[in-house]
Amino acid sequence: MSLNRQQVMHDVLERVPKLPTRPENKISAYYGENVFNKFVMRSYLPDEAYKGILKAMEDGTPVDRKVADQTATAMKEWAISRGATHYTHWFQPLTGSTAEKHDSFIAPTGDGRAIEKFDGSLLVQQEPDASSFPNGGIRNTFEARGYTLWDPTSPAFVMGETLCIPTIFISYTGFALDNKTPLLKALAAVDKAATSVCQYFDKNITKVNASLGWEQEYFLVDKALYAARPDLAMTGRALFGAQPAKGQQLDDHYFGSIPQRVSAFMKDFELEAHKLGIPVTTRHNEVAPNQFEVAPVYEEANLANDHNLLLMELLEIIAQKHDFRVLLHEKPFPGLNGSGKHNNWSLGTNTGVNLLKPGTNPKTNLRFLTFFVNTLAALHTHADIVRASFAGVGNDHRLGANEAPPAIISAFIGSQLSELLDGLEKHIKAGKLTPADKTALKLEIGRIPEALLDNTDRNRTSPFAFTGNKFELRAVGSSANCAVPMTVLNTIVAEQLGLFKKSVDARIKKGDGKDEAILKELQALIKQSKAIRFEGNGYGDEWVKEAKKRGLSNMRTSPEALGVWGRKEVVSLFEDLKVLKPEELAARREIEYEKYMMKRQIEATIACDLAQNTILPAAINYQNFLLENIMGIEETFGKKGSKMIRPQKDLLEKTSTLVNDLYTSMGKISNEMDKANSASSHQKQAEAYGKIVTPLIEELGVSCTVLEGIIDNELWPLPKFTELLFTR
Ligand code: ADP
Ligand code: MG
Repeated sequence: MSLNRQQVMHDVLERVPKLPTRPENKISAYYGENVFNKFVMRSYLPDEAYKGILKAMEDGTPVDRKVADQTATAMKEWAISRGATHYTHWFQPLTGSTAEKHDSFIAPTGDGRAIEKFDGSLLVQQEPDASSFPNGGIRNTFEARGYTLWDPTSPAFVMGETLCIPTIFISYTGFALDNKTPLLKALAAVDKAATSVCQYFDKNITKVNASLGWEQEYFLVDKALYAARPDLAMTGRALFGAQPAKGQQLDDHYFGSIPQRVSAFMKDFELEAHKLGIPVTTRHNEVAPNQFEVAPVYEEANLANDHNLLLMELLEIIAQKHDFRVLLHEKPFPGLNGSGKHNNWSLGTNTGVNLLKPGTNPKTNLRFLTFFVNTLAALHTHADIVRASFAGVGNDHRLGANEAPPAIISAFIGSQLSELLDGLEKHIKAGKLTPADKTALKLEIGRIPEALLDNTDRNRTSPFAFTGNKFELRAVGSSANCAVPMTVLNTIVAEQLGLFKKSVDARIKKGDGKDEAILKELQALIKQSKAIRFEGNGYGDEWVKEAKKRGLSNMRTSPEALGVWGRKEVVSLFEDLKVLKPEELAARREIEYEKYMMKRQIEATIACDLAQNTILPAAINYQNFLLENIMGIEETFGKKGSKMIRPQKDLLEKTSTLVNDLYTSMGKISNEMDKANSASSHQKQAEAYGKIVTPLIEELGVSCTVLEGIIDNELWPLPKFTELLFTR
């Protein structure tokens, strides 16, 4: 079927916004109604079971069989009352998205009837056929058993007609096959390390939770136009296209008004998000046309991450209801701003204290400084792992492209805190502190203002910025599972806090007072991690040079960054903190290389296919169109006609040159793909695709883009960016 672009456009423009049927009542009346939350549990569960499950949720203690059975029964009753007929274990395989296997509640009774059945054993553990999920060689296919195990810290929910139970996913041999398992372990590690350091300041602190507040960016395009762009549909990004006349030059999209069709979609999906207990609050336009952002109130990191994954699913479902498709790719349109997912992170205690919020007196200030400086030190030591944690095909088009932070890891802390750290460093002294030293240091610390003025006007070019009471990791890609960077961040901070505790204890043992020991250790860390602090413009070329001088890495592509997972010290770090076993880490590295290679392979294939079957025929049609005209004019006017056909001949020549270029690029891609495919490992394949094939895809894209600018609009077969981005 040949596609009539004009007809598609016509249909799209006729679309009428589908206004959601908002419930009459306030948000509070339906918020969380599809969640098996504490409130529901209290009314459905016997007291003892409720207490048991609460303890499991808060302290991570195992749930005993009786409590599991009671919870399962309550869950089933509640879910059926919400219209559920099926249940599923909901998990995060290493593909990056989520997976589920639906089973019905039905159990035949043997007399021709059936009852709804769901018990503790079905709640706690399931055995999905795991052979089709990536495992990086951990699990042999003949041993295709993997288990999903209930995560009681994240509440079950009803989506459509299914009760979804958040779970971890591990192999028969006990290896993690998902992204949730290591996250939970990293969160436990940071809890343990941070709680232990908190004991210096407050004995009542018995639990530290890492928090995550993500900000999800995405694009919306009409679903018919999306379907008419096979590159978008198959790879998530347009491989070529001419810039719309009105791009983002005018910066008028940022915080602009949200068009009607989009706002109808947003209202609908916020409604569903709220029913699922996802506390989304902000919605606004982003920098590029048809780009938007949604952010919730922050939550405990594991729950926040489940909510992000759920929201990504929800975005897709609700978008389709409104005849949109959502693009979560990091760079869907070359030349326009890409999408990221800022990860705001902090540490909070059971006593209600945000450990990264400056204090109000010297004691709380010292506590703040402890966590603040240790985070910087962890980032300094392990910048490369942080870089590796957001590697991925899509992000390679975004990082360092003057819209997102560079691939160089650094931290922005603002001038007030920079002065403070510099001040503390100046007072470094070997040996015992005199009373005068102590007074000087106290004065320095007293300088921490409660409100950090300059952090409101923060540096947007930094990959890791302190924003007053939290750090914001900005380099994460829009399609990513935040569990990966959150696992890394919490692991490295846990390690650093452990080292800090050891050193401070050693100083105390040698006779230093507690505060003195802490201060001296902080001073040492400030000095040691100085290179990671950068307040300037992260987009500038000077920074690349300066960073090199400072010895900071600049791993521009994913295949390069993924190598980090294989380093000896990285393997030991994850093993020592019991977050990932060496085999698990090796498997992840392997899977990431393979994913990278396969995604590039698809891009290259689609690019050549489009060039060959869609663009070339259009270009040849245009050549014929010109030729016919040229011959007609020559026939009619004879010699006199030669002046009249100058533009046509010129266009014909340009088109022919581009057709030639296109054809040449296709040949090169095909050759290089053959070579890349036959490389001996996924790593080598990924490297070849990254270094050699990807630039050729770009080269081919340029020819297509230029052709788009030349060929008759009527003959151009694919929706253009203008149509994709300005149709709402
Ligand atoms: P931006 O200017 O980067 O768009 P926003 O104010 O929109 O900033 O986003 C701030 C984000 O930080 C929100 O998602 C919020 O939930 C999150 N946040 C606020 N406090 C914390 C905290 N203590 N821990 C983690 N995230 C937090
Ligand atoms: Mg932000």
